[in-house]
Amino acid sequence: MRVVVKRVILIGLAVILSGPVAVARAAEDSKPTPEQIEEARTFVVNNAIFTLFHEAGHMLIAEFGLPVLGREEDAVDALSSILLLEGDSEELDVAIQDAADAWFLTDEAKDGGLTDTDFLDTHALDRQRAFQIVCMMTGADPEFFKKFADSIDFPQSRREECAFEYERTKNSWFGLLEPHYVGEGPGSNMTVSYEPTGDENMDFFADVLKEAGVLESIAQSVGAKYKFDDGIKLTAKSCGVPNAFWDPQAREITYCYELAVEHIVLIDGYFKREQTAEN
Ligand SMILES: [Zn+2]
Repeated sequence: MRVVVKRVILIGLAVILSGPVAVARAAEDSKPTPEQIEEARTFVVNNAIFTLFHEAGHMLIAEFGLPVLGREEDAVDALSSILLLEGDSEELDVAIQDAADAWFLTDEAKDGGLTDTDFLDTHALDRQRAFQIVCMMTGADPEFFKKFADSIDFPQSRREECAFEYERTKNSWFGLLEPHYVGEGPGSNMTVSYEPTGDENMDFFADVLKEAGVLESIAQSVGAKYKFDDGIKLTAKSCGVPNAFWDPQAREITYCYELAVEHIVLIDGYFKREQTAEN
């Protein structure tokens, strides 16, 4: 049932989000504004980048045989945050805020309905993942991310702890990666491919990711900077489920187009709630 609902939303959004139709439809009250459409595109791309850096973390651990003290999912979320925060670009500073927002929205969408499955998961709870990303943000640059941290009432005492946590985590990760770092290269060649979706309703999402070059951004910021054996594949494709994963046997990071759809549904829900609150 859920799949059917999603499919309807998917078709609707693909139409709404595409080009001139978007502008025409924005005139109607219930349709997203051009600003919201742009925000939704950026939100999808930014979350794809966060997810791909996360998967790249699993890849680096496997390829270099790095030790992991604690839960690997937490460690690679931290790496993804660090790579965005140390990327020294305005876009990446926005990207990490979108990643935190996505986990807050995912949590809100569950409406408190947590079960043992959530507590047993290899990942921390969605809301914990969100707060931990904010912890890395405020730890890296408390002034720059003050507004964001204030907006979610992130406690001052926690911000102070996060400054230490960020430094320690960053130094641990970069210390482990240092022997493999080649700086300006030559690094490793990764094979990038955006597979056909096999579903014309999904093409729009594939195009957004391809235009933004999300896979290429991983090849440039991880592949080109670290030396491992060539041939790692970066693939975007339809999987039937909203997911992303690293496969150590195939040496492949896969981003499923369905995840882009999930992020669109999340932010669309947020826009609608915002609009209802205003009216
Ligand atoms: Zn993971």
